[in-house]
Amino acid sequence: MSTTAANQGTPSDIFSQLTTYDHEQLVFCQDNHTSLKAIIAIHNTVLGPGLGGTRVWNYASDAEAINDVLRLSRGMTYKAAISGLNLGGAKAVIIGDAKTVKTEALMRKFGRFVENLHGKYITAEDVNTTTKDMEYVNMETKHVVGLPESMGGGGDPSPVTAYGTYMGMKASAQFVWGNDSLSGKKIAVQGIGKVGGHLIERLHAEGAQLFISDINEDVLKHYSKELGATVVKGDEIYSLDVDVFAPCALGAVLNTENISKLKCKVIAGAANNQLADENVHGPMLVEKGIAYAPDFLINAGGLINVYQEHIGYNRETAFRNTEHIYNVTLDIYKVAASKNIHTQRAAIELAEKRIADMKSVKATY
Ligand code: NAD
Repeated sequence: MSTTAANQGTPSDIFSQLTTYDHEQLVFCQDNHTSLKAIIAIHNTVLGPGLGGTRVWNYASDAEAINDVLRLSRGMTYKAAISGLNLGGAKAVIIGDAKTVKTEALMRKFGRFVENLHGKYITAEDVNTTTKDMEYVNMETKHVVGLPESMGGGGDPSPVTAYGTYMGMKASAQFVWGNDSLSGKKIAVQGIGKVGGHLIERLHAEGAQLFISDINEDVLKHYSKELGATVVKGDEIYSLDVDVFAPCALGAVLNTENISKLKCKVIAGAANNQLADENVHGPMLVEKGIAYAPDFLINAGGLINVYQEHIGYNRETAFRNTEHIYNVTLDIYKVAASKNIHTQRAAIELAEKRIADMKSVKATY
């Protein structure tokens, strides 16, 4: 984004930010009584209502919060579009320290603001919000997904996300080695949390040789014993002599320093925003001969799962639709190779094409 934090703040600056990536709407929600300060960004609703979680974060400035919500909502547009969902992209942020700011009243007030958008925005859990918070939001609006199974929701989306990541990894193996079996492949997984845990169980079942890293020693102990995984300390994970690297913890790990250490042939993981700078690090991976499965494509299982909740939940259908990530990933590799572009660019182009096509479909009555 060209606008810097220093010159943000006036209405014209905000409009210039909205223009940069063609955002439709930015909604500021304020309430003195609950101290609610939230921003909802609706990026694009050509394909359907904008769906995206609500993040609670102690932003250093309003400008930083605006930047984040605009960036995240655009990412949701691409994720929904490439997954073939009839959903647009949106996101919300609530400004404040999650440990102190979240109350029943604040979450319900936020729910009222969501309700006032009449379904143009559908919210869900995200960083620092929980199923319980969404239950409060749901007391004021029906435009919320990610509810517990006991309330008719889809429950924890992580197993579905892990399945999509696994599909993306297998498609990457097919592209690189001409065979999608991961049996005997050396696979390094960074972050053995909700998604990483389900992923390594699938990889173990297929006979992969696992290398795992996490900041949580207990998790590492558990899986090294349970699955015979080799534990790796901190940054050592980047320089391992492995076939596949799966970032499942943090964003921006694919930076210049880390990429220079990599020896793997495939990167396929669930973490969001893995490329520190897509224009620099996308091409750098191509140059190193590393096949990169675009993160927003292969981690879309969670979104596919909540979309099911929006149209009438069925876990089996969620898994079946997530399986399709395999074919799309394979297509992306082929298109990227034929156009001589990096895979993240190819994935964005495919998502943008679907939005443009559907816009034209909807152009007549
Ligand atoms: P999680 O919080 O359950 O797991 C993250 C794990 O990473 C934790 O075990 C944590 O200890 C570990 N970790 C943190 N810092 C680390 C470091 N420096 N090195 C190694 N490990 C570290 O989160 P999750 O739900 O499993 O999600 C993992 C990633 O996938 C996140 O980037 C998330 O945004 C993304 N994602 C998750 C879903 C989902 O359905 N949960 C959907 C789409 C994308």
